[in-house]
Amino acid sequence: MKVHITADMEGIATICHDIQSDTKGGDFPRMREIMTGEVQAAIEGARDAGANKIVVCDGHDTGRNLLIEKLDRDVEVIEGSSYDLGMMAGISRDFDASFQIGYHSMRHTHAGVLGHTFTYSVAELRLNGTVVGESGLSAAIAGHFGVPVVLVSGDAHAVRQAKNLIKNLVGVSTKEGVGLYAVRTLTPDKACELIRKGAKEALELVGDIEPYTIKKPIMMEVEFERPLMAQYVSRIPLVKRKDFKSVAFKAADMVEAFHVFELMNQVASYAKDEGPL
Ligand SMILES: [Zn+2]
Repeated sequence: MKVHITADMEGIATICHDIQSDTKGGDFPRMREIMTGEVQAAIEGARDAGANKIVVCDGHDTGRNLLIEKLDRDVEVIEGSSYDLGMMAGISRDFDASFQIGYHSMRHTHAGVLGHTFTYSVAELRLNGTVVGESGLSAAIAGHFGVPVVLVSGDAHAVRQAKNLIKNLVGVSTKEGVGLYAVRTLTPDKACELIRKGAKEALELVGDIEPYTIKKPIMMEVEFERPLMAQYVSRIPLVKRKDFKSVAFKAADMVEAFHVFELMNQVASYAKDEGPL
């Protein structure tokens, strides 16, 4: 059985402030260790269920977070940035299942932790009318290749949002927001124990969980935090301005949708230093 693991950092146990997940932050060395532990726990759970090929994508920020020397020696890791398909780099039709580890809730989630959708510039992302965060986006890319997401670990609302989209998946909640920069969290050890158990259980459900597929063509609508971002992004050919802060793009499939979404975020970033609008 072949498993693809996409790993983010904001959803791991403990983290409550983005400075902790920033390579320049003093807590970063601790956080990358905790992230590595959670990924290793998922690998161990997958092995318990008989997985024989595991590819891990280091999907947070620079893609240089995981301490590879502490992972199971027989996995392959995609490290660095940026790579095709972002956090889902390496996915293909060869895989039987996808795991999401350290995932966080979408932007503007009450009691979510560090909720954002790809960047903090995106207020809301909709695929054929359904609001998705990074978990839904990654699930839809996996679904494009016929691969089901069977395990999601992260903050309680990331897990809830994933379960709303995908029936029967196994969710492991590591913490919950109790303030914008405050969490009630499991200890890293406890989170790892639950992730290992969840990973084994999730692989036993492969076959009972459908890939998350979005019907083609895909109408992608993106609301930005600021109108100037929408103005800049609407200059990309075939991207239409919908309203003050929103744009829309009709994509042939999920890979095209993701490529354009990534480009939109790059273009929107030019608005950041352009005054308050
Ligand atoms: Zn993220």
